[in-house]
Amino acid sequence: MALNPTERRVAAATKGFLPDDEAEALHAAALAADGPFLEVGSYCGRSAVWLGAAARTRGTVLFAVDHHRGSEENQPGWEWHDPEVVDLASGRMDTLPFLRRTLAAAGLEDVVVPVVGPSATIGRAWATPLGFLFVDGGHGDDVVRADEAAWLRHVRHGGLLAIHDVFPDPTDGGRPPFELYRRCLASGAWHDVAATGSLRVLRRTDR
Ligand code: MG
Repeated sequence: MALNPTERRVAAATKGFLPDDEAEALHAAALAADGPFLEVGSYCGRSAVWLGAAARTRGTVLFAVDHHRGSEENQPGWEWHDPEVVDLASGRMDTLPFLRRTLAAAGLEDVVVPVVGPSATIGRAWATPLGFLFVDGGHGDDVVRADEAAWLRHVRHGGLLAIHDVFPDPTDGGRPPFELYRRCLASGAWHDVAATGSLRVLRRTDR
């Protein structure tokens, strides 16, 4: 089942770094998963619309985790900075108002639950097993490793893990998400399900 016209229009208009083919693949993967769903790195909510639509179809919820202060590569002076998401009162990035606008416009406020704070801190205290985890937070090695330690253990047996920005060729992008993908396969706990662009989907096959 595809997105409804409102969800599709809002997703297309939302700022973000998720190409359409990868968004479609993310949605398709989530439709095949049990809930609850959780994403790390919501930004302005582009992927949350696609995953939220799948959550509605599956009768579950999406927890959308982000501190909303932007990743390193989103800060002023970096390639992926957008001055429009800077809070003029504080001079800091704040993408939470954009996420809330996106979810309201898409009609997904009852399905997508924003969780605001540092993802590793939230993940350490988290207790609910997940059927689907999308990792798309910061791309530095320390940040990726912190998300790995905090969140992967919450995916239940048979659950799915999606990783964004996996670039086998280093000239296409940074290494940490690719190295996370490689560690997952090397562990024997995860197996490849699908690949679209820089999106990889794996299934938990241990425990
Ligand atoms: Mg990404």
